[in-house]
Amino acid sequence: MKKIAVLGSTGSIGTQTLEIVRTNGDIQVTALAAGRNITLLEEQIREFRPCLAAVWEEERAAELRDRVRDLDVRIMSGMDGLLAVASEPESEILVTAIVGMIGILPTIEAIKAGKDIALANKETLVTAGHIIIPLAEEYHVSILPVDSEHSAIFQSLQGGQRKALHKILLTASGGPFRGKKREELENIQVEDALKHPNWEMGRKITIDSSTMVNKGLEVIEAKWLFGVSVDQIQVVVQPQSIIHSMVEYEDGAVIAQLGTPDMKLPIQYALYYPERRYLPGERLDFAALTEITFEKPDMDTFYGLKLAYEAGRKGGSLPTVLNAANERAVAMFLDRKIRYLQIPEIIRACMEEHRNIESPTVEEILKTEQETYEFIKKRW
Ligand code: NDP
Repeated sequence: MKKIAVLGSTGSIGTQTLEIVRTNGDIQVTALAAGRNITLLEEQIREFRPCLAAVWEEERAAELRDRVRDLDVRIMSGMDGLLAVASEPESEILVTAIVGMIGILPTIEAIKAGKDIALANKETLVTAGHIIIPLAEEYHVSILPVDSEHSAIFQSLQGGQRKALHKILLTASGGPFRGKKREELENIQVEDALKHPNWEMGRKITIDSSTMVNKGLEVIEAKWLFGVSVDQIQVVVQPQSIIHSMVEYEDGAVIAQLGTPDMKLPIQYALYYPERRYLPGERLDFAALTEITFEKPDMDTFYGLKLAYEAGRKGGSLPTVLNAANERAVAMFLDRKIRYLQIPEIIRACMEEHRNIESPTVEEILKTEQETYEFIKKRW
């Protein structure tokens, strides 16, 4: 029986991970961590019976401890809780479905404890890829991508020769505002930006998809996962979200992974890799499918993507600034404190302000994150 721990079990990826566990019946959940939702976490503890669970605030942890005192489960809080879940001795795989840079330290802890990582938390690789990838090699652990595009690339590389990889074609839906120009985005409201045409996801990543910053973060994530330069990664808009990404080999052959938009496929693939299992749900119907179309991304309107290429190319602490500025700007937009078009403006201003650190340590990454937040607080 496979044993897994999940960081962010109450979120969109976390709950879908547990759905896969429920359907397959041959994975044991040893530890769970969530942020604030102790009602759902309690249900998950009762159903999956982990030996350890963690929530962020001690107050909520105390309440949860009280609620589950009839069960044999240890409840922890804060970073100690996340680190304990990440390195829980019994587990073999850590699913990092937590949102934000808070995922870096637990991921490092898990790698050092020899756990394979099913990685959804892209912020970890975006900001600390230069630390995570060599560490995973040193400890001989696998980083298995959960993000659908990266899973598609990973699947397209199976059986191929890695060294013959010429280029990655990272597909994007283009989001709800594809085809619009900047003037038309002036009055975008939170509700408009939360309507993704094809995928159901958490709030933050849905906004990121609408600005295409998510695609930019994915470019940097792919750079680290597949050992290529950002200039070997081409973003291709494919509005129907049927092709989840492609790779082009030296000889010009292009291999793609296609499917319906369902995150359970990449999650299940990461959990059982290299085995493929039956997955209930809709299938592509090529008789009904009328078209698959392609476009160039509009990097002038959605210039967050251009900024991400710049950050990915320069590297160092600049991707941290991009990520932190975006995280804070999206939160401010969701709180209706800034306008939609201010999201990339804030990212650009923060990147211009920053003095890049070439190969930052985790401490420097976290310090850069805080400095970016402080800069935003002062200016907006
Ligand atoms: P959600 O917002 O839906 O979920 C985030 C999870 O993280 C929740 O369980 C939340 O707990 C938990 N969390 C937040 N803060 C803390 C904390 N301080 N301590 C412990 N747990 C915390 O996000 P998603 O599932 O959408 O995304 C998760 C990650 O996966 C992100 O990095 C995202 O970019 C990536 N991703 C997501 C995809 C998707 O389809 N959703 C696709 C590809 C990648 P709580 O709710 O209890 O507060």
